[in-house]
Amino acid sequence: MLEVRDFTKYYGDLCAVENLSFTIDEGEFITLLGPSGCGKSTTLHAIAGLVEPTDGKIMLRGEDVTDLPPEKRNIGMAFQSTALFPHMTVRENIAFGLEMHGHDSTAVEERVDESLELVDMPDHGDHKPGELSGGQQQRVSLARALAYEPDILLLDEPLTGLDRVLREEMRGWLDRIQTEVGVTTLYVTHDQEDALSMSDRVIVLNDGQSEQIAAPERLYESPATPFVAEFVGKSTQFSGPASRDGDRTVVVNDGKTITVDGTDIDDGDEANLYVRPEDIEVSATPAGAENEIPGRVVNVANLGNRAEVTVEVADGLEALAHTSRFPDIDIGDEVHLRFDPESVIAL
Ligand code: ADP
Repeated sequence: MLEVRDFTKYYGDLCAVENLSFTIDEGEFITLLGPSGCGKSTTLHAIAGLVEPTDGKIMLRGEDVTDLPPEKRNIGMAFQSTALFPHMTVRENIAFGLEMHGHDSTAVEERVDESLELVDMPDHGDHKPGELSGGQQQRVSLARALAYEPDILLLDEPLTGLDRVLREEMRGWLDRIQTEVGVTTLYVTHDQEDALSMSDRVIVLNDGQSEQIAAPERLYESPATPFVAEFVGKSTQFSGPASRDGDRTVVVNDGKTITVDGTDIDDGDEANLYVRPEDIEVSATPAGAENEIPGRVVNVANLGNRAEVTVEVADGLEALAHTSRFPDIDIGDEVHLRFDPESVIAL
């Protein structure tokens, strides 16, 4: 459906994106995830025709569109700032996009009604954007982008600036609409929760290069690189020289011996180990188990349905564990952390 092939973009001497290749299948929801400045918007804008690639090709439905102007690519876009025209009503905003794409006036009226219906706002057509909440403005922006049935929908941080509750609500809603309409979507965000909750696949970008392209579950459970392990989800990191012991690997970090089930790490290599907070158990007493590390509690954050407990296990080394809600644990407590060798991610 869409293919980005060896896309490279330089701004003067600065390499913003280097040799990025990926494909998006019909109907897929793909997210470009990465920290600020990693090249997400540059990639999105190149697909839209707003940025000229230094090298590489953009193929849409098998056609090379690299040199086509934006209006010749059938692409819908919605941005972080909704870019609605404030002096126009919601209807006029949506109609404007359709007219730009050459629809006649009867078709425009029909499509405006349908797209307002789609975003659950059939009664808001005569409102001005300023009379709507942030979430409603985003929905209008999306209705406008979807109205002319684009081949692909590009969304650039559309949920940024919304408060947490609304953001979560909008995620569910956006996911539903995308499935309902079946439109191929490329979503850009620095927010891992957006990426993990909505995408079929995620492209993790770091410094203009792709680190991993995978389904959310795989990204979280089998990160390909230390960057992905650290950027997607929280974890405790141990590192040190590895020694193989049959089908197990033992890594010693600051006097602490950690056992990992079967890894590809060679004897003597420096290993990076990551343990997810939900895989670490916090206990007041030792059980003499494998991967048991003593430490002192330095923070307890009660998050309602669970708590995040931070434990100092060595000078400058803190571990993060999830416990059941409102645990009987206080700052300063001496505790023992335990985790299964199978749960350790080794890179
Ligand atoms: P992101 O969307 O991930 O925050 P961008 O694609 O906006 O990243 O930027 C990637 C890099 O390119 C950054 O270093 C940014 O400063 C630089 N950059 C982006 N746009 C321009 C531009 N028009 N001129 C010069 N440098 C730019």
